[in-house]
Amino acid sequence: MHANKSLTEPTMIIVMDKSATKEMVDHVLNIVKEHDLKPEPMYGTTRTAIGVIGDKTKLDEGQVIRLPGVKEILLVSKPYKRVSREYQPENTLVKINDDIVFGGKKAVIIAGPCGVESEEQIRTIAKGVKKLGAQMLRGGAFKPRTSPYSFQGMGVDGLKLMKEVGDEVGLPIVSECISTEHLDAFDKYADMIQIGARNMQNFDLLTSVAKLGKPILLKRGMSATVDEFMFAAEYILNAGNKNLVLCERGIRTFEQSTRNILDLNSLALIKEISHLPIIADPSHAAGRYDLVTPLARAGLAAGADGIIVEVHHKPDEALSDGAQSLTLDSFEEFMKDAPQYHHHHS
Ligand code: PEP
Ligand code: MN
Repeated sequence: MHANKSLTEPTMIIVMDKSATKEMVDHVLNIVKEHDLKPEPMYGTTRTAIGVIGDKTKLDEGQVIRLPGVKEILLVSKPYKRVSREYQPENTLVKINDDIVFGGKKAVIIAGPCGVESEEQIRTIAKGVKKLGAQMLRGGAFKPRTSPYSFQGMGVDGLKLMKEVGDEVGLPIVSECISTEHLDAFDKYADMIQIGARNMQNFDLLTSVAKLGKPILLKRGMSATVDEFMFAAEYILNAGNKNLVLCERGIRTFEQSTRNILDLNSLALIKEISHLPIIADPSHAAGRYDLVTPLARAGLAAGADGIIVEVHHKPDEALSDGAQSLTLDSFEEFMKDAPQYHHHHS
């Protein structure tokens, strides 16, 4: 499983139709060579298959499938590169201010409200979660709400406020950027920039935020496949930013009794196929506070490098996501469990 694997093994197999002529096969061989790749034809009794050796991103499969005589294309390895463990076998460590490390032995706990609502609110919650052992403060200043009539956040003022309070209590902050219009403010005030589920495939935003060079928290889209998630991460690495932490926050399925399903299959799979750290968000997965602690335990047991959890001192007055927010008391209970799950990845 090393980076040079692709030099010796085919990464794509082009299967020719039974009726394909020798001219058609030769044409495909030539096209492969023209793209600086090595074709390895396997002439069977009924049909020919052509292994393609080299970096298959040089060849567009959509074009190959249209060539005369081509029946089907099989991809042997995934077309993303930089995010994969084949490219980098060892875990990526993402550091915030040197003392917080994602992807190491200890799980990182990020806590805070869904949104920044007022100075009193963010300060009370920040002080509370800091005292109970959280390592970072979360809070949205820009809220991407499903309804345009819901609370949209305090904007840049909220971000500044959160940074002030974070500095005051000693917690680095993570907040969501929803538009390239606000890059300067995030560059100035955020310690880590969140890209939310609804923007996972906003490729311009991914690239622009990545270019700031700050640590990024990329949330999985609620309907995104693992491949789509990996490609979104690949955009960020391609823009030259390796300080990337992924986040599984629940996906949509047929099951309607909870807001989403925390997809721990995919989390465990991503730990295998990618070197990037990944944390779990039990709050947006559950949608209800009473399921948050068990889901966080499960996430850590499955190998999550941390947990991001919504906490509010008065959830019944929260302007967003009150139903899923832990109180400071229940966060205290939650934190009693957390140290037991500090894990050891190979
Ligand atoms: C949030 O973190 O408050 C949020 C909006 O998350 P998501 O993008 O996962 O829905
Ligand atoms: Mn929320």
